[in-house]
Amino acid sequence: MKHTLPALLLIILAININAQERRMKIYISADMEGVVGVVTGEQLSPQGFEYQRFREFMTQEVNAAIEGALAGGATDIVVSDSHGNGQNLLIEKLPRDILLVRSWPRPLMMMQGIDASFAGAVFIGYHSSTTSMEGVRAHTISSARLADVRLNDHSMSEAGINAAIAGHFNVPIIMISGDDIVVKETTALLGDVEGAVVKWASGFHSAKTMMPEASYQLIREKVQKAVKRIKDFKPYKITSPVRLEVRFKNYRPSEVLSYLSIVERTDAHSIRFVGKDIVEVSKFLEFINTYELALEP
Ligand SMILES: [Zn+2]
Repeated sequence: MKHTLPALLLIILAININAQERRMKIYISADMEGVVGVVTGEQLSPQGFEYQRFREFMTQEVNAAIEGALAGGATDIVVSDSHGNGQNLLIEKLPRDILLVRSWPRPLMMMQGIDASFAGAVFIGYHSSTTSMEGVRAHTISSARLADVRLNDHSMSEAGINAAIAGHFNVPIIMISGDDIVVKETTALLGDVEGAVVKWASGFHSAKTMMPEASYQLIREKVQKAVKRIKDFKPYKITSPVRLEVRFKNYRPSEVLSYLSIVERTDAHSIRFVGKDIVEVSKFLEFINTYELALEP
């Protein structure tokens, strides 16, 4: 078919308007314990002898998720670096058109940057809950300090808490990657969600793992598949007000927190806080996990 120049311009304009109407934003929350090959603290913090190399693997898993999302029809990506110091991802190795949330503290924790404009959220490198007896590096928010985090009487994983934060904004979780245990745990909680198992737990500090290139390919495929059928997924909603119960491994935190009239001490190690919604609970959790008297500046 032959077009005159003005007709061509009109077509281009129409395509552009259409593309603007059909923007699809995907949020990616990236942790590290569930990244391919990760089994101990040696891969997880700057003191570990393998950390610098595993930042690369974490970054490439996020890149694989971004590629899958774009291939599935996403147009806008926000990533949150949600492990340890929040400064793990190698920003020069991420695509130029995405946005990245870094470091702490932040009110929505591992979901900072999410809002109602997103069509779906993806969890990369996630790990199972502190109540799991099987998962690699299983913990909830702090392996050193917390023995249980409950929302409305149910023990929650980070994936569960973060799914509830996304659900507050009507955003469904569409895909999760990590070991076999976190994928099983999250599927049991959320129902339909795409899962990429990149390693199989043999215990808290051991797993049988895929190789990095295989994990990138699996993550890319699963995210693409999830984004293509994004309409199938339902936001995970919890009822408000939200009853938060935290069990500390030590008992001084529960003692001093109980001085606050908004906090109730429920036993030697545990406190209860009732938030008007999950956002308020998220801020409270971030506060109790990051506050130190000596904080400067
Ligand atoms: Zn982590």
